[in-house]
Amino acid sequence: MTFPMRHLTVLSAGLGVALLLGSCEKAAPYLDKVKKALDRETEEEIAARQPKPPTEIPPPPAPVKMELVINKEARVSVLGYHDFTEGASSNDMILNVADFRSQMQAIRDAKLPVISMRQFLDWKQGKADIPAQCVMITIDDGWKATHTLALGVLKEFGYPFTVFLYKNYIHIGGRSLTHDEIREIAASGGTISSHSVSHKNLSSRGGRSPAAYDAWLREELVESMRFLEENYGDTGAVVKTFAFPFGIYNDRVLELAREAGYEACFTVNGKKTTWEIEDMEIGRYVVHGTTLANFDPALDFGGGAVTTGGRRLLAEQTSADGAAAGPLVTVKPDANTVLGNRLPLIEVDLSKLQGVDPASIILRVSGFGRVAHTYDPASGRLAYQIPQRLRVETCAVQLSFRHAGSKQNESIGWTFRIDPLADYLSSEATAPGKSDPVAEKEESAALSPPTATPSL
Ligand SMILES: [Zn+2]
Repeated sequence: MTFPMRHLTVLSAGLGVALLLGSCEKAAPYLDKVKKALDRETEEEIAARQPKPPTEIPPPPAPVKMELVINKEARVSVLGYHDFTEGASSNDMILNVADFRSQMQAIRDAKLPVISMRQFLDWKQGKADIPAQCVMITIDDGWKATHTLALGVLKEFGYPFTVFLYKNYIHIGGRSLTHDEIREIAASGGTISSHSVSHKNLSSRGGRSPAAYDAWLREELVESMRFLEENYGDTGAVVKTFAFPFGIYNDRVLELAREAGYEACFTVNGKKTTWEIEDMEIGRYVVHGTTLANFDPALDFGGGAVTTGGRRLLAEQTSADGAAAGPLVTVKPDANTVLGNRLPLIEVDLSKLQGVDPASIILRVSGFGRVAHTYDPASGRLAYQIPQRLRVETCAVQLSFRHAGSKQNESIGWTFRIDPLADYLSSEATAPGKSDPVAEKEESAALSPPTATPSL
């Protein structure tokens, strides 16, 4: 135990007097006084115990740790295009631009967001989230029609896209893209990535020794990217991904692509990309000019997110007689809707599920982490009001729960989006403007960190 300084002062003074008095009998009552003085609180101590005056500014709240929610059940359809024409499609690799426009419209009609290569990679790398179901557009080879025909349509829809270019077919005249056209593509939402140097089948050794084969593969993988960086790196649009010519590769190609530092490589196997799919073997639906055989399945997500429990809780169910029975779980805001409101109420109807254990329910929301929802077991209704304006444009929600007596979790995940312009306009309509002190106060409140209270 340590003695506060004032105690020491009083003590030493008391002892001094006591020593001075020596064995005098008067010393005993004096020491009693000293003892009382030691037990008594000072005025400062008493003041310190009083509640602080209300005028004092409270200290800022401790920063809340933001928890990034990645929707690992999201799925992406990557589309692969090649060349375009205004005339009839004479072969599979050349698509009529009017058909291309209808396909872009079909993506919009299906309410499927189109994401950029960077968004795709950030999701795969666990850095940012994407909508539960979305599309990515890629165009291979660097045909001039990418600029003269497709670019206008992509700009019209405002879709991001990626062009995979091979060095030997850049700015060489004829139907190849010029440097200026590539720069214009980069400035119009296009990501520039590599499609090799020579566009040869990388899996074919062509009689080379193992060492010569490796050297050749390294040239195709490394030099192609170096060339793109050198010529277009300043646009900020070059991203280190690779599309295998003809979609063909082998294990050695994959090893050297990894060694070359590629963030992802693309094949032509038409399948949805899930979070677990190997980054060096991302599938693509190659869209043919003469048939929709690949395009239609790319847009078919089967409705609703897949649950980890194996059931598709958000998908339309069919009753025994074949009639539509609606999904098992309904959510609001609906998956992939675009809201003009940054303070939505999240609602989940679990009433069709039997025996959900209320204590097992965990709700997580982008930017807020685990949140304190309300749940009424009688109605099966779960709700959570977003407490502070969402600052993200895509909000992911994840809900997990168990059934009473079961150890297995079921979960659903979905995303909805915020339209920043609509939100801005609606807040302009209701708020008198920034000069209004009340509006300013609300604005600053919206910027303070959200307080997330863990639920049970
Ligand atoms: Zn190609």
